[in-house]
Amino acid sequence: MTESDKPVVVRFAPSPTGNIHIGNARTALFNWLYAMKSGGDFILRFDDTDRQRSTVEFAEGIERDLRWLGVEPDRMEWQSRRFPAYDAAAQKLKDAGLLYPCYETGEELERKRKLRLARRLPPVYGRDALKLSDEDKARFEAEGRQPHWRFMLPNFESDPFETRRTEIHWDDVVRGPQTVDLASMSDPVLVRGDGTYLYTLPSVVDDIEMGVSHIIRGDDHVTNTGAQIALFQALGADAPAFGHHNLLTAASGEGLSKRSNALSIASLRETGIEPMAVNSLAVLIGTSHSVEAVPSMEALQDIFTPDMASKSAAKFDPSELGALNRALIHETPYDRVAARLTDMGVDEHRAEAFWLAVRGNLDVVEDARHWWGVVKNGPAGDAVLEDEDIAYVREAFALLPPEPWGADTWSTWTSAVKQASGRKGRALFMPLRIALTGSRSGPELADLLPLIGREGTLARRP
Ligand code: GLU
Repeated sequence: MTESDKPVVVRFAPSPTGNIHIGNARTALFNWLYAMKSGGDFILRFDDTDRQRSTVEFAEGIERDLRWLGVEPDRMEWQSRRFPAYDAAAQKLKDAGLLYPCYETGEELERKRKLRLARRLPPVYGRDALKLSDEDKARFEAEGRQPHWRFMLPNFESDPFETRRTEIHWDDVVRGPQTVDLASMSDPVLVRGDGTYLYTLPSVVDDIEMGVSHIIRGDDHVTNTGAQIALFQALGADAPAFGHHNLLTAASGEGLSKRSNALSIASLRETGIEPMAVNSLAVLIGTSHSVEAVPSMEALQDIFTPDMASKSAAKFDPSELGALNRALIHETPYDRVAARLTDMGVDEHRAEAFWLAVRGNLDVVEDARHWWGVVKNGPAGDAVLEDEDIAYVREAFALLPPEPWGADTWSTWTSAVKQASGRKGRALFMPLRIALTGSRSGPELADLLPLIGREGTLARRP
């Protein structure tokens, strides 16, 4: 079914009807990493045939979110610009007698479904519309009914009313061998009564014309795949390879929706979560690999294989992102944040030492701003010295070593303070920490002290 020598082309095909969330990011990343691994191309395709609900703003937001994650599309496509191609394909199917008009209303279909169930027949569409004469159709249209159009699945030998088990097989790149029986499903509606297209036909037409080699998407599409493979063949094309990954659910077990803004990629970005924290969780959760903070897309690509995804849905816990974010920041080298530190006003000549001093204490990179304020301007926190410590701290400040200051200054100073005051441990350090930073916890004072400098330190004398 798949030509293995075909160049790899994947696509991420969101409908721009909302912000993307971490579950959508999982689909995008599975495609992106697959393309990266095989040197293939990644298409960002907007499935925006629903003109009512799709907006340019959502499409731009999706593109921005993907680029922020590190997913850089090789090509962008919009279905709303491709209607002539869908019209041509629909006509081709009509000419072949594979796309037929149906006039049932929703209620009529429901009634027919119940009747079939009562007769112990599978509740699929019975193709009654194929029995309509030209006069019947003319009468319906005179009544004002517009036909919707169904694709006739190849699940019969010669009589479409005598369906028989017709297995479609594919070797799913995520789930392994899959089988769907075309006799167990209704002929899918491709065109609505108002002439608009449902997702199926435009998607298959695009996948053919854009040379898509692998369709990687959520496992909510597994059953669609049977009908889509039949549609590829009806349009004279080989079906691509397919991969269906498990979906993410909220902690409650509920599916993630584009409407629940809480987990949108944009909202995670705004709360200071790093893209690689999102990528690490979005890809590794619900797989055979443990969830860990992976520092770069290249490193994630080394870990990733599509078949690592488990078969059942994976619960996503947003609090894991905080832990991954901290782990990632604690290991982030200076050059990756240099520009952001400059934006915060951190002096360039002290920036690297400053970053190495504070990164282990940050929940989000933005927290560095607080510590830069402490280095530059003085204590910024709500911890205050106990009265009985004030004299001690003054005495300690009198013992500050002369410059130059470096990595050993803190220990030189505190040894002297220990000797003079007889204090040790917490009683020795905590008042100094409070005097220097205004907090009871924070980066190592041994690292902060040379950054603050002798003059800056003396200015903090209580
Ligand atoms: N627009 C479809 C969706 O978001 C795309 C599915 C597919 O990848 O084929 O579900």
